[in-house]
Amino acid sequence: MFSYTANPARVVFGSGTLASLPDEVRRLGATRVLLLGSPPLAGPADRVAGSLGPLLAARFDEAAMHTPVDVTERALKVVTENDVDCVLAIGGGSTTGLAKAIALRTDLPQIIVPTTYAGSEMTPVLGETAGGRKSTQTTPKVQPEVVVYDVDLTLKLPVQVSLTSGINAMAHAVEALYSPDANPVVDQFALEAIRLLATALPRIATDPSDVDARSEALRAAWLAGTCLGSVGMALHHKLCHTLGGSFNLPHSETHTVVLPYAMAYNTTGAPDAMRRIAEALGAPDAATGVYDLIASLPVPHSLGELGFTEDDIAKAAEIATAKPYPNPREVTREGIEDLLRQAHAGTRPA
Ligand code: NAD
Repeated sequence: MFSYTANPARVVFGSGTLASLPDEVRRLGATRVLLLGSPPLAGPADRVAGSLGPLLAARFDEAAMHTPVDVTERALKVVTENDVDCVLAIGGGSTTGLAKAIALRTDLPQIIVPTTYAGSEMTPVLGETAGGRKSTQTTPKVQPEVVVYDVDLTLKLPVQVSLTSGINAMAHAVEALYSPDANPVVDQFALEAIRLLATALPRIATDPSDVDARSEALRAAWLAGTCLGSVGMALHHKLCHTLGGSFNLPHSETHTVVLPYAMAYNTTGAPDAMRRIAEALGAPDAATGVYDLIASLPVPHSLGELGFTEDDIAKAAEIATAKPYPNPREVTREGIEDLLRQAHAGTRPA
């Protein structure tokens, strides 16, 4: 027996789908849109603002990594002052996070236009930071109502963010396959996401404007985000949460460095999942297959490069093992210290 809860969202996918946004706003019965953006995406946001015409009530472009509550409070002021009835976010996980934080407090409907492969748009999960602490909650209140994927917007996503957020997506798929909530439906999403990413990311590294590779990576991001939103994650996500929340390491780069080591750690605990992942990668072994893929890409390859020092290892292992959570292999302090030592150096996982 298994159970699968679908998180309802309307999805529009393709090239040029940005043009459908005014219709999507009208479908929701909304008339006063708050447009969330960020400076690197000012061009597309300006085009959307133009097409919304009188449906646009206000703009806000201060979204920041890990959804700081003070930024949300400033955005809420704009919501109230402009009598906003719908939030439309164009950007990566940071901009999506702000839309979710607003929805949590106002119940406003969200339309998300994701421009990275982080996958937050497909989850009922919100991580927020206040006073230097990150806390995460899961509630259907933050699940976006509409997701519009426009491949064209990803063509200018800088190569490094493309690749690291692609590995962030792969991490959702990998951990879904050995989740205690794993089920055959989510397994298929996960394996297809891994298969698509393994071939699309090297092509994007060679030619960032390869529309087919971009389209496959964005489809994989959708599938991987669905995995993240449907089943519980394990060691890899917990470790990255610690490294991001307590050591301020950058989100997608940290996921990229840690993934092969977390997989190597879990190899003996999840042999069947690892066999299926290796098959999807077209590699003899899952952990070293992912390591070799990442080693071939122009991305950071060690925690040392991200500013994490050897002196941080003991503290990080202590925080990451403070509370028990489901993982296919027992999580021990010594085991995590060893994992972090390898990830700090960037050596091939043993
Ligand atoms: P991000 O949203 O911070 O974007 C990274 C940078 O790329 C930003 O400067 C952004 O402006 C820029 N950018 C984004 N798209 C672009 C484009 N198409 N062209 C040019 N520049 C572009 O990074 P991210 O990796 O997408 O998201 C990370 C955040 O998302 C973290 O805070 C993480 O915790 C959160 N997240 C949440 C979930 C969830 O389910 N709640 C899932 C994944 C990630």
